[in-house]
Amino acid sequence: MSNWILGLTGGIGSGKSTVANLFAAEGVTIVDADQIARELVLPGQPALLQILDHFGGQILNANGELDRGALRQQIFAHPQEKQWLNQLLHPLIRNTLLQRCREASGNYVILMAPLLFENALETWVNRTLCIDVREQTQIARTCQRDGNTPELVQAIMASQLPRAERLQRSDDYIDNDQLTPSELQRAVRQLHIKYLALSSQHLP
Ligand code: ADP
Repeated sequence: MSNWILGLTGGIGSGKSTVANLFAAEGVTIVDADQIARELVLPGQPALLQILDHFGGQILNANGELDRGALRQQIFAHPQEKQWLNQLLHPLIRNTLLQRCREASGNYVILMAPLLFENALETWVNRTLCIDVREQTQIARTCQRDGNTPELVQAIMASQLPRAERLQRSDDYIDNDQLTPSELQRAVRQLHIKYLALSSQHLP
């Protein structure tokens, strides 16, 4: 069981998933907030039934799955609905995340959340690591990865904390702008050694 949690964050396209994979290769368990958020609204989950009850059948697609586009449109048309949705989902996401972290084996566990600070998840972690790149790198890498337009990526970035504030609130950071894959791996290994030491000194 792991008691010591590292919060891994960074804006869209900064390299969080890439870094998480490198920590996973060192044997660290990754608990992914976005993945849990998706799991909690799968068909049959209580949260999906509540969303259906609230918004009606129009937010389901033909397969009975949550139609995220339809839900986004509802929220866009009625901004107060976002608060309703967050009040339903955020405690569920937080409880599931923390339970998975507690169940994980190893000296420490990583909680990966793009919105770690925005959703006040940093209160639940022992230390935070921010993956940082320049905004233009974020846009270029995300467009290349997802085939999105720069405008869409910029809109997502505008919904996240400004880069400087995220950096300032983090304990550690990796400047992932210019690193080659092997340099990034080295940076992760160094931090892994540091987190092994910190977590072993930590008393539950
Ligand atoms: P995030 O999970 O933060 O959205 P990703 O880990 O998916 O970001 O990285 C975004 C894109 O940038 C991916 O296509 C990834 O392969 C690439 N990438 C990550 N780090 C680097 C790097 N140091 N140099 C070049 N490309 C990188």
